[in-house]
Formats: sequence, structure tokens, C-alpha cells
Amino acid sequence: MNCPCGCGQRVELPLLLEVRPRWNLTVDSRGRPTLHPSVALREGCRSHYYVRAGKVLWV
Ligand SMILES: [Zn+2]
Repeated sequence: MNCPCGCGQRVELPLLLEVRPRWNLTVDSRGRPTLHPSVALREGCRSHYYVRAGKVLWV
């Protein structure tokens, strides 16, 4: 996905079970994604946020 802060950085999160660290992605009945745990970028804009029901919650 593209970083939600608007910096243009592409954020890739592993969803495969055997990869660590990995993120859990669920999509509700209205198609809204939730990611767990939060996303913290170590490089670039260093954003830290949760994605819950399609909304970005900044940390
Ligand atoms: Zn960013």
C-alpha cells in the first residue's frame, strides 16, 4: 500500500504465516481492512499508525 501520510513511500507488509514479523489482515463485511499489529516505519517518514476498519489511527 502507499503510506497514508502522503509521503509517497510504498509500504510492504508480509501476510504469510511463516514470515516474521508478519501482519494479520482482516476485511469486514463492508470491505474495510483492519491490520494488526500497528505499522511503524523505520525509514523515510517514520510514520506509526494502526489501520482499523479502513481508517488510519495515528500513534
Ligand atoms: Zn509516509
